[in-house]
Amino acid sequence: MTIFQKIIDREIPAEIVYEDDRALAFKDINPQAPVHILVIPKKPIAKVADMTTDDKELAGHLIWVAREIAADQELDDFRLVVNNGSGAGQTVFHLHVHLLGGRGLEWPPG
Ligand code: AMP
Repeated sequence: MTIFQKIIDREIPAEIVYEDDRALAFKDINPQAPVHILVIPKKPIAKVADMTTDDKELAGHLIWVAREIAADQELDDFRLVVNNGSGAGQTVFHLHVHLLGGRGLEWPPG
């Protein structure tokens, strides 16, 4: 079981900022920007590559939730990041969208 599943199950604490029937969002424990929130599906999908056709609407919903949180935080500029696989920097194998904002963000990322 991943640490994010434990957050969904309320087995470990997190600073939850949004929840609905399909998604949960909470503050990243090691923030890389003044706003750094993780949006995750409640469905245990390990990574983007593991999504199926059935998950297409859920994929859109996660981006929509991130958009709503960015609006709540009054962020004009922000970045959504999804790392897929350890070589791309993924460390927790429960799908998550990073919402980063509140500072200037360089491009390209490392
Ligand atoms: P990634 O490297 O894309 O898999 O991102 C995983 C993120 O989860 C990292 O930014 C971590 O700081 C964050 N993280 C790990 N454990 C926790 C936790 N218990 N609560 C909140 N965020 C966490």
